[in-house]
Amino acid sequence: MDFKALPKIELHAHLTGSVTRRTLHDIWEAKHKSQQTTLEDPLVVMPEGKPDYNLKSFFPLFSSYIYELLTDVPSIQQATTSVLQGFLEDGVVYLELRTTPRATPSLTPEDYITTILDAIAAFEQTHHEMHTRLILSIDRRHDVSTAENILALAEKYRGRVVGLDLCGDPSARPDGQISVFTPIFQRASLPLTVHFGECVASGSPEELETLLSWHPGRLGHAICLDEESKKVIRERNLCLELLLSCNVQAGMTQGGFANHHFGEWLACDGVKVSLGTDDVGVFGSELSDEYRLAAEHFGLDQKQICALARQGIEAIFGGEDEKERLRQVMWI
Ligand SMILES: [Zn+2]
Repeated sequence: MDFKALPKIELHAHLTGSVTRRTLHDIWEAKHKSQQTTLEDPLVVMPEGKPDYNLKSFFPLFSSYIYELLTDVPSIQQATTSVLQGFLEDGVVYLELRTTPRATPSLTPEDYITTILDAIAAFEQTHHEMHTRLILSIDRRHDVSTAENILALAEKYRGRVVGLDLCGDPSARPDGQISVFTPIFQRASLPLTVHFGECVASGSPEELETLLSWHPGRLGHAICLDEESKKVIRERNLCLELLLSCNVQAGMTQGGFANHHFGEWLACDGVKVSLGTDDVGVFGSELSDEYRLAAEHFGLDQKQICALARQGIEAIFGGEDEKERLRQVMWI
């Protein structure tokens, strides 16, 4: 089966984690020539295809390049456009990209968001096959007023921004302290997706209960769940954004691909599953690779793979017209 040609929906991709090291190198090169950075070449520090990264050390290294290099309009535009090009070339027809609004030395968080939205709009002018919408992320480490500002930005750009996310270090705000954000998420008029039960620290019954009280439409990861949460997921017919390579490569799940909880949820009536990449720039596995892995490790034939790809349609945040377009273009 041609997994690249298969029309796909990507609902769980972080913009900055999706930037390839090659693109980081290109941005670095321009800044290096004009003496705007003292960093070393990212392709020397993080060679492409180097398989033995320790993720605990790699993520901060990768992030340091992202935050040092993606600081102005040209670099953010270039990074966004290259991420969109990558998903398009991989056969993605609908993309919900997520990002955490942040200030840089020359940009406000709002400038950062409008730069990304402008890059998306410019890309869509000439590439009609893939539609992209933005989700704004609140980080678990944010204070309440930062989270309030992100909600305000999401509401202001509603339409091109279609949802709100909770992400970040899952060990931050343990033991239900996440409830500090409850008034914000409960007030949001946009659909919600949250990083859910990523690890033991963020999988306490208190936290899962709090997150479910926000009535999210989708849940990301869903690894460390109690039985009560599983029951609610089934009853509410929720969509799970499942991330095979990310979870296996980062050691978030045990037993390799064949033991990933994707298998359990795929067999579960009523629950929708949408495969995602999380951070293709870090893990190097494109969405087509994720479908190939699902086919290989769970014995799915072409008809089952097409049905899996279509499960995400009803869970997108992009509206009814977009769902109808996807019903037409996705393979049966
Ligand atoms: Zn994520």
